[in-house]
Parts: sequence; structure tokens; C-alpha cells
Amino acid sequence: MRNVTVLAGGVGGARFTRGLLAHLATAAPDAAVTVIVNTGDDLWLDGLRICPDLDTVMYTLGGGINEEQGWGRPEETRRASSEIAAYGRGWSWFTLGDLDLATHIVRTDLLRSGSTLSEATEFLCRRWQPGVRLLPMSDHPIETHVCLAENIDEHAAGDYIHFEEWWVRYRARVAVTGFEQRGPADAVAAPGVLEAIQTADLIVLPPSNPVVSIGTILAVPGVRAALRSTTARVVGVSPIIGGAAVRGMADACLHTIGVETSALAVGLHYGSRSQGGVLDAWLVDETDAAALPALAAAGIRSAAAPLWMTDLPTTTAIAAAVLAL
Ligand code: GDP
Ligand code: CA
Repeated sequence: MRNVTVLAGGVGGARFTRGLLAHLATAAPDAAVTVIVNTGDDLWLDGLRICPDLDTVMYTLGGGINEEQGWGRPEETRRASSEIAAYGRGWSWFTLGDLDLATHIVRTDLLRSGSTLSEATEFLCRRWQPGVRLLPMSDHPIETHVCLAENIDEHAAGDYIHFEEWWVRYRARVAVTGFEQRGPADAVAAPGVLEAIQTADLIVLPPSNPVVSIGTILAVPGVRAALRSTTARVVGVSPIIGGAAVRGMADACLHTIGVETSALAVGLHYGSRSQGGVLDAWLVDETDAAALPALAAAGIRSAAAPLWMTDLPTTTAIAAAVLAL
């Protein structure tokens, strides 16, 4: 096992990858891990480019994450945000701590001086040393927007708002009719992304949101085709346990695209590579073992194991189960 490539969102992808690195440290010390991260959540806030999933993965693997929140830095203050609010500006529904703001200022400065997002990410990682090669899915801004099904505040039904506004400001509690990836018509995968899929020995879809994290990466031109043609095995880990999105609100996303919130339905949604999908194998939680026959019938090799990422040992065991599968 030399090259392992992970397609990740924020919290689920970051925690899984931390366990994967711990497992590989003993099981395959020469292995190199590349993490392709969703950038559909990226947004501009008062002149700063925020990349929520890239930062969560970078801070988590670099030892700088606020563990309770799953995003941002520990022991944060909010003094800069309060000062900005005193001018009547800022981001009332999005929290940015002072330490985290420094990352956004440095990234924005790099982007404004001509760096690509890949280059800016590499620069930030020189400090955090995440132990993986961290690649944004694209250097082009491809942002996820949602179409509102009802009026809310200053928005009317039928309006599109940024995914993060729906997720953070409205906690995904406002009905939406769909997701739309907005970006330049010529948007392509970032340098190294397709190669990392084509030359991998193993590809993992960690327990990330199947719609707005992994689904967004799969929609980048060339990514799905690369996954379908790679000689590597593609193994997924269910983000749904016992019919519930473990942390967060993935059920609202699945409901919107008409997929049931279950380990089986998400596995079938990804589909078997032998039948036009992207998976060779799918790991479900031990409480979802009843799904195994239906997955086998759909051409997806599967197994059941405890999938709660409660701490590093349990998460390392999940990574070991992925490699075993
Ligand atoms: P986000 O971008 O921060 O929302 O993070 P991701 O998309 O990477 O992952 C979010 C998803 O991870 C959630 O919707 C959950 O379904 C899943 N998740 C979170 N914690 C766990 C866990 O302990 N076990 C499993 N199997 N899935 C989890
Ligand atoms: Ca995210």
C-alpha cells in the first residue's frame, strides 16, 4: 500500500483521516496519503476567502483544531469580530475567531497576489504539517448554492442562497428544493487531483456528507470518470448509522435529493463500479449489518464494523477495517 487517496469534506473526513494516518503508521509506514477536499462550502465574507473544509482538515491533522466544535481553533477569542460588528459590518451568522481569522487573512493575501488556492493551501500547510498532501478539489471557485422552498427573512421561495448560509444560519431547517454548483464554465480539477485518483493503490470515501461534501467533489469535471477508471479499489465508509446522520444534518441533504437516510440507501446512491457507480466496497456500522445482503446483490462488497469515531483508537480501528475490506 503506497498511495492512498481520500475524498473529504470537513469534520467527518478530517477525523477519519486522522485515524487512517494512525493506522498506516504501523500497518504501512511508507504509504503516502493525499486528501482531496471539498471546496463547495468556500465563501467570501467581508473581503476574506473562507475555506471551511480545507481548514478543518488542516487544523485537525495539524493539531490545531477546536475538538468540541470540529472547526476553528481552540481557546479562541472573538475580539476582531466584535470590533467589525461595532462598525455595523461583519458576519452575524458566521463565527470567526481571532486566531482563525489570521489563516483567512494570509490565504486571502496569497490569492490576491496571484497564488492559486492549491498554492495558498500548500503554503498554509507548511506551518501545520498535516502529514498528508492536501489538495482543494479545484482552484476555481465552485460554490454550492441551495434553492429555497419557502420565504425566510429577506429571501423569497425560489431564491438561491449560499450553502453555508442555509447550513449555519438556518441549520438546514428551511426546506430546499435542490443544490446547484456555481462556478466558471471552464472549472476543472486542481493540479494533482485526477492523478491522485488514477495512481492510487486505494481510494477511500470517508464518512463525509454524501451530498454536499463528496457529491460536490464527484461533480468536478473528470473526477467521477477518474474514479470509474482507476485500478485502485474504492472503499467507502457510511456516514449514516442506524438511520441517523451521526453529527450534523446530512439527513436534510439526503432528503432534498430523494435518498433515504440509511447506510444502505447511501451505498446504493454511490453505486457499484461494476454497474456505473463509484464504489467497490462499503463499510457500514455493526447496527446496519442487515443491509449487507442487499449491498451484495447490488454488486458492492461490504462488511459491518463499529463506525462511531469517538476517539483515536476507535477511528484507527475503522481505518483498519477499510484496509481489510
Ligand atoms: P462537514 O463538511 O464538516 O459537514 O464534514 P463531512 O462532510 O466530512 O462529514 C460530515 C458527516 O460525517 C456527517 O453528516 C455525519 O454523517 C458523518 N459523521 C460524523 N461523525 C461521524 C462518526 O463518528 N461516524 C460516522 N460513521 N460518521 C460520522
Ligand atoms: Ca463542509
